Amino acid sequence: MATSLERSPAAGTGPVEQFDAIVIGAGVSGLYQLYRLRQLGLAVRCYEDGGGVGGTWYWNRYPGCRFDSESETYGYSWSEELLQEWDWKEHFSGQPENEKYLNYVADRFDLRKDIQFNSRVKSAVYDERANRWEIELESGQRARAQFLVAAVGILSARYTPPFEGIDSFKGISYHTSRWPKEKADFTGKRVAVIGTGATAVQLIPIIAKEVGHLTVFQRTPNYCAPLRNGLVSSEAQNRWKATYPEIHKRCRETPAAFMHDFDPRNTLEVPKEERLALYEELWAQPGFKKWLGNFHDIMTNREANEDFAEFVRNKIRARVKDPVVAEKLVPKDHPFGSKRIPLETEYYEAYNRDNVLLVDIKETPIERITPKGIKTSDKEYEFDVIIYATGFDAVTGALTRIDIRGEDGQSFKDKWANGPRTYLGMQTAGFPNFFIAINSAFCNYTVCAESVVDWITDCIRYLREKNFTRIAPTPEAEEAWVEHANQLGTYTLLSDANSWFMGSNIPGKKRAILLYANTAPAYRQKCAEVATQGYEGFILQ
Ligand SMILES: Cc1cc2nc3c(=O)[nH]c(=O)nc-3n(C[C@H](O)[C@H](O)[C@H](O)COP(=O)(O)OP(=O)(O)OC[C@H]3O[C@@H](n4cnc5c(N)ncnc54)[C@H](O)[C@@H]3O)c2cc1C
Repeated sequence: MATSLERSPAAGTGPVEQFDAIVIGAGVSGLYQLYRLRQLGLAVRCYEDGGGVGGTWYWNRYPGCRFDSESETYGYSWSEELLQEWDWKEHFSGQPENEKYLNYVADRFDLRKDIQFNSRVKSAVYDERANRWEIELESGQRARAQFLVAAVGILSARYTPPFEGIDSFKGISYHTSRWPKEKADFTGKRVAVIGTGATAVQLIPIIAKEVGHLTVFQRTPNYCAPLRNGLVSSEAQNRWKATYPEIHKRCRETPAAFMHDFDPRNTLEVPKEERLALYEELWAQPGFKKWLGNFHDIMTNREANEDFAEFVRNKIRARVKDPVVAEKLVPKDHPFGSKRIPLETEYYEAYNRDNVLLVDIKETPIERITPKGIKTSDKEYEFDVIIYATGFDAVTGALTRIDIRGEDGQSFKDKWANGPRTYLGMQTAGFPNFFIAINSAFCNYTVCAESVVDWITDCIRYLREKNFTRIAPTPEAEEAWVEHANQLGTYTLLSDANSWFMGSNIPGKKRAILLYANTAPAYRQKCAEVATQGYEGFILQ
Protein backbone atom coordinates (compact mmCIF):
# COMPACT_ATOMS: atom_id res chain seq x y z
CA MET A 1 0.00 0.00 0.00
CA ALA A 2 1.36 3.40 -0.93
CA THR A 3 2.02 6.24 1.44
CA SER A 4 1.16 9.81 0.59
CA LEU A 5 1.84 13.34 1.67
CA GLU A 6 -1.10 15.40 2.79
CA ARG A 7 -1.78 18.47 4.81
CA SER A 8 -2.99 17.90 8.33
CA PRO A 9 -6.37 19.36 9.24
CA ALA A 10 -5.51 19.01 12.93
CA ALA A 11 -2.29 20.85 13.35
CA GLY A 12 -0.65 23.51 11.29
CA THR A 13 0.28 23.52 7.66
CA GLY A 14 3.40 21.32 7.26
CA PRO A 15 3.28 18.21 5.07
CA VAL A 16 2.17 15.12 6.94
CA GLU A 17 3.14 11.66 5.75
CA GLN A 18 0.30 9.15 5.74
CA PHE A 19 0.64 5.51 6.73
CA ASP A 20 -1.64 2.66 7.67
CA ALA A 21 0.25 2.08 10.88
CA ILE A 22 2.92 3.82 12.91
CA VAL A 23 5.14 1.88 15.30
CA ILE A 24 7.07 3.73 17.99
CA GLY A 25 10.31 2.00 19.00
CA ALA A 26 12.73 -0.35 17.25
CA GLY A 27 13.63 -2.79 20.01
CA VAL A 28 12.75 -6.49 19.96
CA SER A 29 9.02 -5.66 20.07
CA GLY A 30 9.00 -2.82 17.53
CA LEU A 31 11.11 -4.68 14.97
CA TYR A 32 8.86 -7.70 15.07
CA GLN A 33 5.74 -5.50 15.01
CA LEU A 34 7.02 -3.70 11.92
CA TYR A 35 7.75 -7.02 10.23
CA ARG A 36 4.30 -8.45 11.02
CA LEU A 37 2.32 -5.38 9.97
CA ARG A 38 4.27 -5.17 6.75
CA GLN A 39 3.42 -8.81 6.12
CA LEU A 40 -0.27 -7.85 6.37
CA GLY A 41 0.33 -5.46 3.49
CA LEU A 42 0.18 -2.29 5.56
CA ALA A 43 2.25 0.81 4.88
CA VAL A 44 4.15 1.12 8.15
CA ARG A 45 6.63 3.61 9.49
CA CYS A 46 8.62 3.01 12.65
CA TYR A 47 10.02 6.00 14.56
CA GLU A 48 12.94 5.38 16.90
CA ASP A 49 14.57 7.82 19.28
CA GLY A 50 17.94 6.06 19.05
CA GLY A 51 20.37 6.14 16.17
CA GLY A 52 20.03 2.41 15.49
CA VAL A 53 17.91 -0.66 16.16
CA GLY A 54 18.00 -2.68 19.36
CA GLY A 55 16.22 -0.60 22.02
CA THR A 56 17.57 -1.91 25.33
CA TRP A 57 20.55 -3.36 23.48
CA TYR A 58 21.23 -0.08 21.68
CA TRP A 59 21.15 2.18 24.75
CA ASN A 60 22.67 0.07 27.52
CA ARG A 61 26.34 -0.14 26.50
CA TYR A 62 27.84 -0.14 29.97
CA PRO A 63 30.59 -2.69 30.65
CA GLY A 64 29.11 -6.04 31.60
CA CYS A 65 25.65 -5.41 30.12
CA ARG A 66 24.06 -8.70 29.09
CA PHE A 67 20.78 -10.52 29.38
CA ASP A 68 20.08 -12.99 32.17
CA SER A 69 17.80 -15.05 29.96
CA GLU A 70 19.37 -18.04 28.26
CA SER A 71 20.43 -16.94 24.77
CA GLU A 72 18.64 -19.78 23.00
CA THR A 73 15.37 -18.71 24.62
CA TYR A 74 15.74 -14.94 24.24
CA GLY A 75 16.23 -14.88 20.45
CA TYR A 76 13.17 -14.58 18.22
CA SER A 77 11.34 -17.82 17.48
CA TRP A 78 9.43 -16.72 14.37
CA SER A 79 11.93 -17.43 11.60
CA GLU A 80 13.41 -20.88 11.13
CA GLU A 81 16.01 -19.38 8.77
CA LEU A 82 17.09 -16.89 11.41
CA LEU A 83 17.28 -19.59 14.06
CA GLN A 84 19.53 -21.67 11.83
CA GLU A 85 21.71 -18.76 10.68
CA TRP A 86 22.45 -17.14 14.02
CA ASP A 87 25.12 -18.53 16.37
CA TRP A 88 24.99 -17.36 19.99
CA LYS A 89 28.47 -17.04 21.42
CA GLU A 90 27.65 -17.04 25.13
CA HIS A 91 24.96 -18.78 27.15
CA PHE A 92 23.91 -15.34 28.47
CA SER A 93 24.68 -13.05 25.63
CA GLY A 94 26.26 -9.62 26.09
CA GLN A 95 25.08 -6.26 24.78
CA PRO A 96 27.49 -6.03 21.82
CA GLU A 97 26.33 -9.38 20.47
CA ASN A 98 22.66 -8.63 21.19
CA GLU A 99 22.90 -5.38 19.28
CA LYS A 100 24.62 -7.21 16.42
CA TYR A 101 21.84 -9.81 16.43
CA LEU A 102 19.07 -7.20 16.16
CA ASN A 103 21.00 -5.41 13.40
CA TYR A 104 21.30 -8.73 11.61
CA VAL A 105 17.52 -9.20 11.92
CA ALA A 106 16.87 -5.66 10.62
CA ASP A 107 19.05 -6.31 7.57
CA ARG A 108 17.94 -9.90 7.00
CA PHE A 109 14.27 -8.83 6.80
CA ASP A 110 14.95 -5.46 5.21
CA LEU A 111 13.32 -3.59 8.09
CA ARG A 112 15.59 -0.56 8.10
CA LYS A 113 13.93 1.05 5.07
CA ASP A 114 10.78 1.62 7.13
CA ILE A 115 12.51 2.94 10.25
CA GLN A 116 13.33 6.57 10.85
CA PHE A 117 16.07 6.88 13.47
CA ASN A 118 16.94 9.80 15.76
CA SER A 119 13.23 10.51 15.81
CA ARG A 120 11.64 10.95 19.19
CA VAL A 121 7.85 11.01 19.17
CA LYS A 122 6.75 13.83 21.44
CA SER A 123 2.98 13.69 20.96
CA ALA A 124 0.27 11.50 19.47
CA VAL A 125 -3.21 12.92 18.97
CA TYR A 126 -6.30 11.03 17.88
CA ASP A 127 -8.36 12.80 15.23
CA GLU A 128 -11.77 11.31 15.90
CA ARG A 129 -13.44 12.61 12.74
CA ALA A 130 -10.83 11.15 10.42
CA ASN A 131 -10.09 8.15 12.66
CA ARG A 132 -6.39 8.84 12.36
CA TRP A 133 -3.55 9.20 14.84
CA GLU A 134 -1.21 12.07 14.22
CA ILE A 135 2.22 11.89 15.77
CA GLU A 136 4.68 14.72 16.06
CA LEU A 137 8.40 14.26 16.49
CA GLU A 138 10.60 16.55 18.53
CA SER A 139 11.85 17.93 15.21
CA GLY A 140 8.31 19.08 14.39
CA GLN A 141 7.89 16.46 11.65
CA ARG A 142 4.42 14.90 11.63
CA ALA A 143 2.82 11.73 10.32
CA ARG A 144 -0.62 10.13 10.40
CA ALA A 145 -1.91 6.59 10.49
CA GLN A 146 -5.03 4.64 11.31
CA PHE A 147 -3.19 2.43 13.80
CA LEU A 148 -0.64 3.51 16.36
CA VAL A 149 1.49 0.90 18.13
CA ALA A 150 3.69 1.95 21.04
CA ALA A 151 6.56 -0.54 21.30
CA VAL A 152 8.37 1.79 23.66
CA GLY A 153 9.70 -0.78 26.13
CA ILE A 154 9.24 -1.39 29.85
CA LEU A 155 12.75 -0.28 30.78
CA SER A 156 13.56 2.50 28.35
CA ALA A 157 12.60 5.69 30.20
CA ARG A 158 15.79 6.25 32.14
CA TYR A 159 15.59 7.74 35.60
CA THR A 160 18.12 10.00 37.29
CA PRO A 161 17.22 11.17 40.79
CA PRO A 162 16.92 14.95 40.91
CA PHE A 163 19.95 15.40 43.18
CA GLU A 164 20.60 18.98 44.12
CA GLY A 165 23.66 20.33 42.35
CA ILE A 166 23.67 17.55 39.76
CA ASP A 167 24.82 19.86 36.96
CA SER A 168 27.59 21.38 39.03
CA PHE A 169 29.83 18.29 38.88
CA LYS A 170 33.05 19.11 37.04
CA GLY A 171 33.99 15.52 36.24
CA ILE A 172 32.31 13.11 33.80
CA SER A 173 28.80 11.80 34.46
CA TYR A 174 27.24 8.74 32.85
CA HIS A 175 23.83 7.14 33.07
CA THR A 176 24.17 3.41 32.41
CA SER A 177 21.26 3.53 29.98
CA ARG A 178 22.80 6.30 27.87
CA TRP A 179 26.32 4.94 27.77
CA PRO A 180 28.58 6.36 25.06
CA LYS A 181 29.64 4.23 22.10
CA GLU A 182 33.30 4.97 22.70
CA LYS A 183 35.00 2.96 25.45
CA ALA A 184 35.07 4.89 28.72
CA ASP A 185 38.58 4.83 30.18
CA PHE A 186 38.56 4.47 33.97
CA THR A 187 42.24 3.74 34.41
CA GLY A 188 43.46 5.26 37.65
CA LYS A 189 40.21 7.25 38.06
CA ARG A 190 38.16 7.85 41.20
CA VAL A 191 34.74 6.54 40.22
CA ALA A 192 31.35 6.56 41.96
CA VAL A 193 28.46 4.24 41.15
CA ILE A 194 25.06 5.24 42.50
CA GLY A 195 22.69 2.27 42.67
CA THR A 196 23.02 -1.47 43.18
CA GLY A 197 20.27 -2.89 40.97
CA ALA A 198 20.73 -5.45 38.20
CA THR A 199 22.68 -3.00 36.02
CA ALA A 200 25.15 -1.93 38.72
CA VAL A 201 25.65 -5.56 39.70
CA GLN A 202 26.82 -6.30 36.14
CA LEU A 203 28.97 -3.18 35.91
CA ILE A 204 30.71 -3.03 39.30
CA PRO A 205 32.91 -6.17 39.16
CA ILE A 206 34.21 -5.20 35.73
CA ILE A 207 35.11 -1.59 36.38
CA ALA A 208 36.43 -2.39 39.88
CA LYS A 209 39.39 -4.00 38.10
CA GLU A 210 40.04 -0.89 35.97
CA VAL A 211 39.48 2.07 38.23
CA GLY A 212 41.90 3.67 40.65
CA HIS A 213 39.17 3.67 43.30
CA LEU A 214 35.49 2.80 43.24
CA THR A 215 32.84 3.97 45.71
CA VAL A 216 29.45 2.29 45.51
CA PHE A 217 26.46 4.15 46.94
CA GLN A 218 23.84 1.61 47.93
CA ARG A 219 20.25 2.30 49.00
CA THR A 220 18.92 -1.27 49.12
CA PRO A 221 20.97 -4.46 48.87
CA ASN A 222 19.61 -7.10 46.54
CA TYR A 223 19.58 -10.88 46.54
CA CYS A 224 22.14 -11.34 43.77
CA ALA A 225 22.69 -14.86 42.49
CA PRO A 226 25.48 -16.31 40.38
CA LEU A 227 24.89 -16.15 36.62
CA ARG A 228 27.39 -18.90 35.70
CA ASN A 229 27.84 -17.78 32.13
CA GLY A 230 30.03 -19.59 29.62
CA LEU A 231 30.88 -19.90 25.95
CA VAL A 232 28.51 -21.92 23.79
CA SER A 233 30.17 -25.09 22.47
CA SER A 234 29.50 -26.16 18.89
CA GLU A 235 27.70 -29.22 20.30
CA ALA A 236 25.30 -27.02 22.29
CA GLN A 237 24.80 -24.73 19.28
CA ASN A 238 23.96 -27.70 17.06
CA ARG A 239 21.69 -29.18 19.69
CA TRP A 240 19.72 -25.92 19.94
CA LYS A 241 19.44 -25.65 16.18
CA ALA A 242 18.11 -29.20 16.00
CA THR A 243 15.60 -28.69 18.82
CA TYR A 244 14.36 -25.09 18.60
CA PRO A 245 10.71 -26.19 18.22
CA GLU A 246 10.97 -28.10 21.52
CA ILE A 247 12.78 -25.21 23.23
CA HIS A 248 10.09 -22.75 22.16
CA LYS A 249 7.27 -25.12 23.05
CA ARG A 250 8.73 -25.53 26.53
CA CYS A 251 9.09 -21.75 26.94
CA ARG A 252 5.48 -21.27 25.94
CA GLU A 253 4.36 -23.75 28.61
CA THR A 254 6.28 -22.62 31.68
CA PRO A 255 4.96 -19.85 33.97
CA ALA A 256 7.66 -17.30 33.16
CA ALA A 257 8.49 -18.44 29.61
CA PHE A 258 11.90 -19.84 30.50
CA MET A 259 13.06 -23.44 30.30
CA HIS A 260 12.76 -23.53 34.10
CA ASP A 261 9.61 -24.56 35.90
CA PHE A 262 8.73 -24.50 39.59
CA ASP A 263 8.94 -27.54 41.86
CA PRO A 264 5.28 -28.33 42.67
CA ARG A 265 5.98 -29.21 46.33
CA ASN A 266 5.22 -26.79 49.17
CA THR A 267 8.55 -25.60 50.55
CA LEU A 268 7.90 -26.26 54.20
CA GLU A 269 6.47 -29.73 53.64
CA VAL A 270 9.82 -30.88 52.28
CA PRO A 271 12.26 -32.01 55.02
CA LYS A 272 14.91 -29.42 55.80
CA GLU A 273 17.84 -31.47 54.53
CA GLU A 274 16.09 -32.19 51.27
CA ARG A 275 15.22 -28.50 50.90
CA LEU A 276 18.79 -27.47 51.43
CA ALA A 277 19.99 -30.07 48.95
CA LEU A 278 17.63 -28.62 46.33
CA TYR A 279 18.76 -25.05 47.13
CA GLU A 280 22.41 -26.08 46.68
CA GLU A 281 21.61 -27.84 43.44
CA LEU A 282 19.75 -24.80 42.11
CA TRP A 283 22.51 -22.47 43.25
CA ALA A 284 25.04 -24.42 41.21
CA GLN A 285 22.95 -24.02 38.04
CA PRO A 286 23.20 -21.09 35.62
CA GLY A 287 20.58 -18.39 35.18
CA PHE A 288 17.27 -17.83 36.95
CA LYS A 289 16.80 -21.47 37.89
CA LYS A 290 17.32 -20.58 41.58
CA TRP A 291 14.24 -18.40 41.32
CA LEU A 292 12.05 -20.00 38.68
CA GLY A 293 12.99 -23.63 39.36
CA ASN A 294 12.47 -23.26 43.11
CA PHE A 295 9.46 -24.43 45.14
CA HIS A 296 6.23 -23.07 43.63
CA ASP A 297 5.19 -21.16 46.76
CA ILE A 298 8.38 -19.14 47.02
CA MET A 299 6.62 -16.02 45.67
CA THR A 300 3.37 -16.44 47.58
CA ASN A 301 4.25 -17.81 51.03
CA ARG A 302 6.31 -15.52 53.28
CA GLU A 303 7.69 -18.32 55.42
CA ALA A 304 8.70 -20.37 52.38
CA ASN A 305 10.33 -17.32 50.86
CA GLU A 306 12.20 -16.54 54.06
CA ASP A 307 13.61 -20.08 54.13
CA PHE A 308 15.31 -19.55 50.78
CA ALA A 309 16.11 -15.90 51.46
CA GLU A 310 18.16 -16.94 54.50
CA PHE A 311 20.01 -19.49 52.37
CA VAL A 312 20.91 -16.69 49.93
CA ARG A 313 21.97 -14.34 52.75
CA ASN A 314 24.40 -16.97 53.99
CA LYS A 315 25.81 -17.38 50.49
CA ILE A 316 26.48 -13.64 50.43
CA ARG A 317 28.07 -13.66 53.89
CA ALA A 318 30.38 -16.48 52.81
CA ARG A 319 31.77 -14.46 49.91
CA VAL A 320 32.46 -11.10 51.55
CA LYS A 321 35.52 -11.07 53.79
CA ASP A 322 34.70 -8.07 55.98
CA PRO A 323 31.66 -9.05 58.10
CA VAL A 324 30.55 -5.42 58.46
CA VAL A 325 30.53 -4.94 54.69
CA ALA A 326 28.86 -8.33 54.26
CA GLU A 327 25.96 -7.35 56.53
CA LYS A 328 25.46 -4.17 54.53
CA LEU A 329 25.18 -6.29 51.38
CA VAL A 330 22.68 -8.69 52.90
CA PRO A 331 19.04 -7.82 52.09
CA LYS A 332 16.73 -8.00 55.09
CA ASP A 333 13.82 -5.71 54.27
CA HIS A 334 12.13 -7.49 51.39
CA PRO A 335 11.39 -11.05 50.26
CA PHE A 336 13.59 -12.87 47.75
CA GLY A 337 12.29 -12.19 44.23
CA SER A 338 10.08 -9.26 45.22
CA LYS A 339 12.65 -7.11 43.42
CA ARG A 340 14.26 -8.18 40.14
CA ILE A 341 16.98 -10.70 41.06
CA PRO A 342 20.30 -9.48 39.64
CA LEU A 343 22.48 -12.27 38.27
CA GLU A 344 26.17 -11.68 38.83
CA THR A 345 29.72 -12.71 38.12
CA GLU A 346 32.19 -11.90 40.92
CA TYR A 347 29.96 -9.10 42.25
CA TYR A 348 30.47 -9.83 45.94
CA GLU A 349 34.21 -10.44 45.46
CA ALA A 350 34.50 -6.84 44.19
CA TYR A 351 33.91 -5.71 47.78
CA ASN A 352 36.94 -7.73 48.92
CA ARG A 353 39.19 -5.46 46.85
CA ASP A 354 41.21 -2.72 48.54
CA ASN A 355 40.08 -0.18 45.96
CA VAL A 356 36.32 -0.65 46.50
CA LEU A 357 34.27 1.08 49.20
CA LEU A 358 30.57 0.54 49.96
CA VAL A 359 28.56 3.49 51.28
CA ASP A 360 25.11 2.77 52.71
CA ILE A 361 23.01 5.79 51.80
CA LYS A 362 20.25 4.77 54.15
CA GLU A 363 22.79 5.46 56.96
CA THR A 364 24.39 8.51 55.36
CA PRO A 365 22.05 9.85 52.66
CA ILE A 366 23.32 11.71 49.61
CA GLU A 367 22.67 15.39 50.24
CA ARG A 368 23.89 16.81 46.97
CA ILE A 369 26.23 16.50 44.04
CA THR A 370 29.06 19.00 44.29
CA PRO A 371 31.56 20.28 41.70
CA LYS A 372 34.08 17.81 43.15
CA GLY A 373 31.85 14.80 43.81
CA ILE A 374 29.14 13.62 46.19
CA LYS A 375 28.25 15.05 49.59
CA THR A 376 26.54 12.65 51.97
CA SER A 377 25.28 13.49 55.45
CA ASP A 378 28.73 12.75 56.90
CA LYS A 379 31.33 13.77 54.32
CA GLU A 380 32.18 14.89 50.79
CA TYR A 381 33.65 12.25 48.45
CA GLU A 382 35.73 13.44 45.50
CA PHE A 383 35.41 11.79 42.08
CA ASP A 384 36.56 12.02 38.48
CA VAL A 385 33.51 10.08 37.26
CA ILE A 386 29.97 9.58 38.58
CA ILE A 387 27.94 6.71 37.14
CA TYR A 388 24.20 6.84 37.68
CA ALA A 389 22.94 3.24 37.72
CA THR A 390 19.60 4.55 38.89
CA GLY A 391 17.31 2.64 36.60
CA PHE A 392 14.07 3.47 34.89
CA ASP A 393 10.62 4.91 35.23
CA ALA A 394 9.50 1.40 34.41
CA VAL A 395 6.59 0.18 32.29
CA THR A 396 4.51 3.36 32.26
CA GLY A 397 7.33 5.93 31.93
CA ALA A 398 8.02 5.64 28.19
CA LEU A 399 4.30 5.95 27.48
CA THR A 400 3.50 8.85 29.80
CA ARG A 401 6.50 10.81 28.50
CA ILE A 402 4.64 11.05 25.18
CA ASP A 403 1.73 13.52 25.18
CA ILE A 404 -0.93 11.06 24.00
CA ARG A 405 -4.45 12.41 23.49
CA GLY A 406 -7.44 10.18 22.85
CA GLU A 407 -11.13 10.86 22.24
CA ASP A 408 -12.24 14.33 23.37
CA GLY A 409 -8.62 15.28 23.89
CA GLN A 410 -8.36 12.97 26.92
CA SER A 411 -4.81 12.86 28.26
CA PHE A 412 -3.22 9.41 28.52
CA LYS A 413 -0.88 10.62 31.25
CA ASP A 414 -3.80 11.83 33.37
CA LYS A 415 -5.68 8.64 32.77
CA TRP A 416 -2.70 6.59 34.00
CA ALA A 417 -1.86 8.86 36.95
CA ASN A 418 -2.79 6.13 39.44
CA GLY A 419 -1.21 3.25 37.54
CA PRO A 420 -1.71 1.39 34.26
CA ARG A 421 -5.30 1.22 32.98
CA THR A 422 -5.62 -1.30 30.21
CA TYR A 423 -7.66 -4.17 28.97
CA LEU A 424 -5.34 -7.17 28.44
CA GLY A 425 -2.37 -4.82 28.77
CA MET A 426 -2.76 -3.85 25.12
CA GLN A 427 -5.42 -1.16 24.83
CA THR A 428 -6.95 1.55 26.96
CA ALA A 429 -10.55 2.84 26.72
CA GLY A 430 -11.00 6.12 24.88
CA PHE A 431 -7.91 5.65 22.71
CA PRO A 432 -9.18 3.74 19.65
CA ASN A 433 -6.67 1.91 17.47
CA PHE A 434 -3.88 2.68 19.92
CA PHE A 435 -2.03 -0.51 20.87
CA ILE A 436 0.56 -0.96 23.59
CA ALA A 437 3.10 -3.50 22.37
CA ILE A 438 5.08 -3.93 25.52
CA ASN A 439 5.25 -7.18 27.37
CA SER A 440 3.87 -6.50 30.81
CA ALA A 441 3.70 -10.11 31.97
CA PHE A 442 6.40 -11.52 34.26
CA CYS A 443 8.32 -13.41 31.67
CA ASN A 444 11.26 -13.98 29.43
CA TYR A 445 10.78 -10.89 27.38
CA THR A 446 11.04 -11.87 23.74
CA VAL A 447 8.89 -14.97 24.15
CA CYS A 448 6.02 -12.93 25.58
CA ALA A 449 6.62 -9.87 23.37
CA GLU A 450 6.14 -12.11 20.34
CA SER A 451 2.71 -13.18 21.67
CA VAL A 452 1.70 -9.55 22.24
CA VAL A 453 2.77 -8.53 18.73
CA ASP A 454 1.03 -11.56 17.21
CA TRP A 455 -2.19 -10.70 19.06
CA ILE A 456 -2.11 -7.07 17.91
CA THR A 457 -1.37 -8.12 14.33
CA ASP A 458 -4.20 -10.66 14.32
CA CYS A 459 -6.54 -8.03 15.74
CA ILE A 460 -5.70 -5.53 13.00
CA ARG A 461 -6.08 -8.24 10.37
CA TYR A 462 -9.52 -9.14 11.82
CA LEU A 463 -10.66 -5.51 11.73
CA ARG A 464 -9.66 -5.15 8.12
CA GLU A 465 -11.18 -8.45 7.05
CA LYS A 466 -14.49 -7.65 8.77
CA ASN A 467 -14.52 -4.06 7.57
CA PHE A 468 -14.25 -2.53 10.99
CA THR A 469 -12.22 0.64 11.21
CA ARG A 470 -11.67 1.10 14.91
CA ILE A 471 -11.33 -0.83 18.15
CA ALA A 472 -11.14 0.19 21.78
CA PRO A 473 -12.01 -1.58 25.03
CA THR A 474 -15.26 -0.90 26.85
CA PRO A 475 -14.71 1.02 30.11
CA GLU A 476 -16.29 -1.93 31.95
CA ALA A 477 -13.88 -4.50 30.48
CA GLU A 478 -10.98 -2.22 31.31
CA GLU A 479 -12.16 -1.67 34.88
CA ALA A 480 -12.56 -5.42 35.43
CA TRP A 481 -9.08 -6.06 34.02
CA VAL A 482 -7.46 -3.40 36.19
CA GLU A 483 -9.13 -4.84 39.26
CA HIS A 484 -8.10 -8.37 38.30
CA ALA A 485 -4.49 -7.32 37.63
CA ASN A 486 -4.27 -5.43 40.93
CA GLN A 487 -5.74 -8.36 42.79
CA LEU A 488 -3.24 -10.77 41.24
CA GLY A 489 -0.49 -8.51 42.54
CA THR A 490 -1.74 -8.94 46.09
CA TYR A 491 -1.53 -12.75 45.87
CA THR A 492 2.24 -12.53 45.48
CA LEU A 493 4.96 -11.08 47.69
CA LEU A 494 5.79 -8.44 45.08
CA SER A 495 3.97 -5.73 46.96
CA ASP A 496 6.19 -6.32 50.02
CA ALA A 497 9.08 -4.44 48.39
CA ASN A 498 9.80 -1.00 47.04
CA SER A 499 10.80 -1.80 43.49
CA TRP A 500 10.29 -0.83 39.88
CA PHE A 501 7.72 -3.65 39.69
CA MET A 502 5.59 -1.46 41.99
CA GLY A 503 6.68 1.91 40.60
CA SER A 504 8.05 2.76 44.03
CA ASN A 505 11.60 3.43 42.84
CA ILE A 506 10.33 6.78 41.54
CA PRO A 507 9.43 9.44 44.12
CA GLY A 508 5.84 10.58 43.70
CA LYS A 509 4.88 7.73 41.36
CA LYS A 510 1.69 6.12 42.55
CA ARG A 511 2.42 2.67 43.98
CA ALA A 512 0.72 0.06 41.79
CA ILE A 513 1.65 -3.31 40.40
CA LEU A 514 3.03 -2.50 36.94
CA LEU A 515 3.40 -6.03 35.65
CA TYR A 516 0.72 -8.64 35.15
CA ALA A 517 1.38 -11.24 37.82
CA ASN A 518 -0.31 -14.21 36.17
CA THR A 519 1.53 -17.02 34.41
CA ALA A 520 2.46 -16.40 30.79
CA PRO A 521 0.34 -19.34 29.50
CA ALA A 522 -2.73 -18.11 31.44
CA TYR A 523 -2.28 -14.61 30.01
CA ARG A 524 -1.82 -15.92 26.48
CA GLN A 525 -4.91 -18.12 26.82
CA LYS A 526 -7.06 -15.23 28.07
CA CYS A 527 -5.95 -13.03 25.17
CA ALA A 528 -6.68 -15.86 22.71
CA GLU A 529 -10.14 -16.44 24.20
CA VAL A 530 -11.05 -12.78 23.88
CA ALA A 531 -10.03 -12.85 20.21
CA THR A 532 -11.89 -16.09 19.51
CA GLN A 533 -15.04 -14.60 20.99
CA GLY A 534 -14.95 -11.77 18.46
CA TYR A 535 -12.89 -9.47 20.69
CA GLU A 536 -15.16 -9.66 23.68
CA GLY A 537 -14.82 -6.57 25.88
CA PHE A 538 -13.90 -4.36 22.94
CA ILE A 539 -16.08 -2.00 20.91
CA LEU A 540 -15.56 -2.62 17.21
CA GLN A 541 -16.90 -0.07 14.75
C1 LIG B 1 20.05 -3.79 31.12
C2 LIG B 1 18.84 -4.60 30.83
C3 LIG B 1 18.90 -5.98 30.87
C4 LIG B 1 17.78 -6.74 30.58
N1 LIG B 1 17.86 -8.10 30.66
C5 LIG B 1 16.78 -8.83 30.36
C6 LIG B 1 16.81 -10.26 30.45
O1 LIG B 1 17.80 -10.86 30.84
N2 LIG B 1 15.72 -10.96 30.10
C7 LIG B 1 14.58 -10.35 29.70
O2 LIG B 1 13.61 -11.04 29.39
N3 LIG B 1 14.51 -9.01 29.64
C8 LIG B 1 15.55 -8.24 29.96
N4 LIG B 1 15.47 -6.88 29.93
C9 LIG B 1 14.21 -6.26 29.56
C10 LIG B 1 14.36 -5.70 28.13
O3 LIG B 1 14.02 -4.38 28.17
C11 LIG B 1 13.60 -6.54 27.18
O4 LIG B 1 14.20 -7.82 27.19
C12 LIG B 1 13.52 -6.05 25.74
O5 LIG B 1 14.75 -5.69 25.19
C13 LIG B 1 12.54 -4.92 25.59
O6 LIG B 1 12.28 -4.76 24.23
P1 LIG B 1 11.24 -3.70 23.71
O7 LIG B 1 11.37 -3.64 22.25
O8 LIG B 1 9.88 -3.98 24.24
O9 LIG B 1 11.69 -2.34 24.39
P2 LIG B 1 13.08 -1.58 24.24
O10 LIG B 1 14.17 -2.50 23.90
O11 LIG B 1 13.21 -0.76 25.45
O12 LIG B 1 12.84 -0.65 22.98
C14 LIG B 1 11.96 0.44 23.03
C15 LIG B 1 12.45 1.46 22.06
O13 LIG B 1 11.48 2.50 21.98
C16 LIG B 1 12.17 3.72 21.81
N5 LIG B 1 11.30 4.80 22.27
C17 LIG B 1 10.74 4.96 23.50
N6 LIG B 1 10.01 6.10 23.53
C18 LIG B 1 10.12 6.65 22.29
C19 LIG B 1 9.60 7.83 21.72
N7 LIG B 1 8.81 8.67 22.41
N8 LIG B 1 9.90 8.09 20.42
C20 LIG B 1 10.69 7.25 19.69
N9 LIG B 1 11.22 6.13 20.20
C21 LIG B 1 10.94 5.83 21.50
C22 LIG B 1 13.39 3.59 22.67
O14 LIG B 1 14.41 4.46 22.24
C23 LIG B 1 13.76 2.13 22.48
O15 LIG B 1 14.71 1.97 21.49
C24 LIG B 1 16.56 -6.09 30.25
C25 LIG B 1 16.50 -4.70 30.25
C26 LIG B 1 17.62 -3.96 30.55
C27 LIG B 1 17.51 -2.46 30.55
